[in-house]
Amino acid sequence: MCTIGAVANPTNNSRVFFKNVDQTYRTVYQKPFITQGLKYKYLKIASNADTSKQGVLAGVNEAGVVVLGADGNAQPNYVGGNYGSLNESLVVYEKVLSECGNIREALDLAIHEYQNRQMGGNGDIVIVGDRTDAVALEYLPNRWGLEFQSDKPYLIRSNFFVLMDRLRPPHEENTLHTSSAIRYADALKHLSVKGRNNELSDVFDLVKSHYQGKNAMSICRHGGDGEYFTHASFVTELRDDSIKAYVMLNGHPCEGQFQAFQF
Ligand SMILES: [Zn+2]
Repeated sequence: MCTIGAVANPTNNSRVFFKNVDQTYRTVYQKPFITQGLKYKYLKIASNADTSKQGVLAGVNEAGVVVLGADGNAQPNYVGGNYGSLNESLVVYEKVLSECGNIREALDLAIHEYQNRQMGGNGDIVIVGDRTDAVALEYLPNRWGLEFQSDKPYLIRSNFFVLMDRLRPPHEENTLHTSSAIRYADALKHLSVKGRNNELSDVFDLVKSHYQGKNAMSICRHGGDGEYFTHASFVTELRDDSIKAYVMLNGHPCEGQFQAFQF
């Protein structure tokens, strides 16, 4: 369960992407590193303690291709527990970073891989993008909803379907979905203040925000026992001539130190 997004600023021609990683259990993430993929170098934020295993939480590559996943948990009959194909989806994210040079290639590969691997029934929500655009992919087996950012100032997803909303359970029936709805609304509210003029610092404020207090309902989540808490955060800024990335692992974004990388 995560909050992800793309934020464009036409004045300085930047696009900032972010992901907060939310879990109910503690994972010890290893230090990220830049590695050579099949075609492109990319920032590997490994999803496993063993960094030689495939799978990333999110990332960016030297061509400026970004991938962020949020998990779906959106089937009408979803009752809780882990998304069965989570590891497979994390492997697909890494493949996109390793092989794709632009948003079109990323979109094609992600859809192809999800269909080929018959990804799991609880669905997934992914954002892929580059300097030119971003697109949100809402996935359930054999169903896709796609929303391009195009000239919109921001494109946000938490863990609920926006396009395929009739496949979304009523959020009053499940606190997971209540949280998804609240985090989505809080992110829109935060970014709407500056509209097209959000900068990197505004996105950092967002990933550290506690609009609902220091609890599981805020974007920087502080759930108690068995509840969701934010345990990693990734922010990347694409400009015409630079790609910078910031990663904070094994703690809350509001408290941790982000490590900087660049291509
Ligand atoms: Zn916090």
